Amino acid sequence: MTQSGSKHDRFMQEVLKLARAALAEGGPPLAALVRQGDRIAARAHALPDADELRQHPELMAMESAGEAARGGSLYAAVEPCAMCFAAAALMGVREVIYAVPDPRQGGFHTLIPIGDLAERSPTGVGGILRKEALALLRQYVDQHPKSPQAPHLRKLLDDTPLPPDPRGLPREGKG
Ligand SMILES: [Zn+2]
Repeated sequence: MTQSGSKHDRFMQEVLKLARAALAEGGPPLAALVRQGDRIAARAHALPDADELRQHPELMAMESAGEAARGGSLYAAVEPCAMCFAAAALMGVREVIYAVPDPRQGGFHTLIPIGDLAERSPTGVGGILRKEALALLRQYVDQHPKSPQAPHLRKLLDDTPLPPDPRGLPREGKG
């Protein structure tokens, strides 16, 4: 295992801890943190019955990190959506690390970098502790089959093999 691999694992464990807290509160196991150097600048997890914008822990973590997001790393349980990915680019986030790829809504897979955003686009690493994150997603859809998020999360569970990344960025995690 590479040095950076183990470092990513360590911070992703923190994300999954937050995801478990979200699950315990009855929300989807979605969570994110912003790392600046060796420090965690901000943490957030999904809340049950949150409005649409509050269902994006990446956005909440970057908002609470503020300037500390610049040059930092964003860790998320699921590949951040196009909106969060664009926000990360605008905030100057350097890299985005996620556990579960999302070929349908994930920013790396769906966002067409436009204008300045293309130059500011963070690099990405996917598949870190993916199996652990998928186990939490499965637990949630089993417990809340009728939640508004369940249909989309169920699709992530169906994507068992890691889909090819259009930019060749994420690697297969040891998950
Ligand atoms: Zn999002």
